[in-house]
Amino acid sequence: MTPSSPVDRRHFVQLGTLAAAAALLPNAARAAAAAAAPVGAPYTLPALPYGLAALEPHIDQATMAVHHGKHHAAYITNLNTALASAPELATRPLDKLLATLPAVPDETLRTTLRNHGGGHWNHDFFWQTLTPPAESGQPSAALAAAIEGSFESVEGFKKAFGEAATKRFGSGWAWLIAQEGKLKITSTPNQDNPLMQGIVPAADLGTPLLGLDVWEHAYYLHYQNRRPDYIAAWWNIVNWPAVSARFAAARG
Ligand code: MN
Repeated sequence: MTPSSPVDRRHFVQLGTLAAAAALLPNAARAAAAAAAPVGAPYTLPALPYGLAALEPHIDQATMAVHHGKHHAAYITNLNTALASAPELATRPLDKLLATLPAVPDETLRTTLRNHGGGHWNHDFFWQTLTPPAESGQPSAALAAAIEGSFESVEGFKKAFGEAATKRFGSGWAWLIAQEGKLKITSTPNQDNPLMQGIVPAADLGTPLLGLDVWEHAYYLHYQNRRPDYIAAWWNIVNWPAVSARFAAARG
């Protein structure tokens, strides 16, 4: 695809329009708009909504540079390479593509879309889920009430979520999802996520509200093998206004 092709121009215009609209929105709504940004190939690495050092001391600058600039970028490169051979899938919004993976008949392509399409979506979501510690805030009253209804207390929720993240063997994610009007903690391996119908168990499907990357690349430079320390620190940089906006949108 050349830079002047109609699809590429449209993609550029869409991103430009989104960026212009997002600049007018308050922080939480801006995060929600940015999280919906992946609209079609070729995908580009989204700029972080904060500086590389802005999440310190909880996530260090060197980890952010490699995680965003190398790992996330590689998922996008591999996703674009796969979609170059499947133009009928390239214009499908990424979340829709991930929700319909079993309809992709070619196993190699399906696996690449699962791993690298999932990798792009998950990391875009992850960056929007985080914010500098001074801006972390609190769950909205509605979200706090829902958390207390499902997990007794916010502290009880954090404990259960942390256990799911700690127990995920190898690489993967912990999630808070909205599922049929209720909140649920789930976990997925590799770059699978709760959107992937027909891939992850039905019990783990839902609307992601919060996601925690527990791949070693997310924490090893600073925390080495101490995943629980990374998880405990991570709560200090959760963007609760953004998570609360997702919850409000999921409730409709
Ligand atoms: Mn990662």
